[in-house]
Amino acid sequence: MLGLMQDRPLLISAILEHAARNHFGAKIVSARPDGSRVRHTWPQIAARAAQLAHALTKRGVSQGERIATLAWNEHRHLEVYYGVSSMGAVLHTVNPRLFAEQIGFILADAQDTHLFVDATLLKVAEGLTERLPPCLKTVVVLGTAAELPADSPLRARCEVIDHESLLAGQPERFDWPDLDERAASSLCYTSGTTGDPKGVLYSHRSTLLHAMAVVQPDCFNIRAVDVVMPVVPMFHVNAWGMPYAAGIAGCSMVLPGPRLDPASLFQLIEEEGVTGSAGVPTIWSALLQWLRADPTRKFARPPRLAVGGTALPTAVNAGFLKEYGIEILHAWGMTEVSPVGSTGARLPQNADWDEDRFLDYARKQGRPLFGVEMRVRDDKGQDIAHDGTAFGELEVRGPWVASAYFNRASDDAFTGDGWFRTGDVVTVDELGCIEIVDRAKDVIKSGGEWISSITLENVILGHPDVAQAAVIGIRHSKWDERPLLLVVPKEGRTPGAESILRFYEGKVAKWWIPDQVEFVDKLPMTATGKIWKAELKTQYRDRVAG
Ligand code: ADP
Repeated sequence: MLGLMQDRPLLISAILEHAARNHFGAKIVSARPDGSRVRHTWPQIAARAAQLAHALTKRGVSQGERIATLAWNEHRHLEVYYGVSSMGAVLHTVNPRLFAEQIGFILADAQDTHLFVDATLLKVAEGLTERLPPCLKTVVVLGTAAELPADSPLRARCEVIDHESLLAGQPERFDWPDLDERAASSLCYTSGTTGDPKGVLYSHRSTLLHAMAVVQPDCFNIRAVDVVMPVVPMFHVNAWGMPYAAGIAGCSMVLPGPRLDPASLFQLIEEEGVTGSAGVPTIWSALLQWLRADPTRKFARPPRLAVGGTALPTAVNAGFLKEYGIEILHAWGMTEVSPVGSTGARLPQNADWDEDRFLDYARKQGRPLFGVEMRVRDDKGQDIAHDGTAFGELEVRGPWVASAYFNRASDDAFTGDGWFRTGDVVTVDELGCIEIVDRAKDVIKSGGEWISSITLENVILGHPDVAQAAVIGIRHSKWDERPLLLVVPKEGRTPGAESILRFYEGKVAKWWIPDQVEFVDKLPMTATGKIWKAELKTQYRDRVAG
């Protein structure tokens, strides 16, 4: 027997309508590149999203058509987010930090017809002129198109107009279509850390369910009274769902624009009363260093911070907790998981743990949110013991987990029995908390035994002279592979190899300790701010350990 409840579809337009109708008092504050700020309300964002939908409809944009953006976190990007998906087209956010070749590949793969470009990123767009797919005929400048020189090759290649003239004169209400909730809403490509970028095509349903999950107390904990600031870019997996979660909660939002340096972020937090923010570890690590540099730099009201995307060094977590009273929420996610899959929120079992014990737990990637099921199997396909030691590949399933890649017939990541293989190698402890010990492709196998590059990196980041570290496997005649440690020293410090390697003693198994350390000025990074291990492995391909 079926239940007798209304079957209203879960649509992104419903978030916008809800926020505009019921949370008209909240503010969307958008920082401009010059540091000035513009303010909108949810009703104004909704009106402008409607105008955009009218303009695109008149230009013949149809349901399912892909519309790309190359933009920072700012209010016009938010309008495009809501306007495009709500009308039934597909919002395709592109990371401007990718190489032109990768962006060209992504635009062609998605078959985008329009590209919305932040005025500050026009140079990036110009660099793409030759690589734009034939179907891409219009560039809309978020800002003024006049900033693009009259003789720019981009103008010769396609129509270039500005956002405001696109919106001008359009009606401020749109009769949003009653789409199938499983209709595609947005498209985001994986950053390609471990191969070619792959498109993940979200649906309205997956986006709403994910956003409703991240609003919850044990995730980002967003209430109507909050002022949230997504520092994580809106091109990086939908800013972890925050633009939608903010609409569901009806809270205020601060969009920091292109200036993500610690001083600018601190100023926004203080002046706009930011209560919660989320970003990758490098953002919080830089903020911590900056705060420490001057003891008068203190938060009037410390915001809640969430982190994810790559492992958070315990030293950063400890600094925020012990010096500023901020317990950072550690989340794990992937493009294929919308992205959030787990968080390290407290449990009754560890509610009263002291700081150090808790920090050791917070280093881990947490426990699944309701809606995400996890299983971890070893290479024989057996479920691993939850003892914090046994390891295997993490697999997930749930209504906001991808079931296939866009435009790809098949991929090994999809097991065929409904699970997605994450490529993350994890342990699970007695509390059910996962800890990523490696990515499957980065695992170092030494003498048939496995060494965790992530643990080695995390330990050495606790050394007072180390700013950044990476560990990769290099060839060894007897042990097959041995770990090589690459270290970027802190400014003005010149640690010796011996002091670095001695730091591992007593902290990891003796045979895990790298035999070699190499000091470098910088490490190659991916467009999403992760250490680019594949590139490092290519660079050190010919290095042998012994
Ligand atoms: P890519 O796979 O191209 O790097 P994603 O942004 O989707 O792009 O990255 C997902 C991966 O990032 C995860 O599979 C995991 O390896 C890593 N990751 C995400 N969150 C964390 C975290 N909190 N700690 C450690 N690694 C993380």
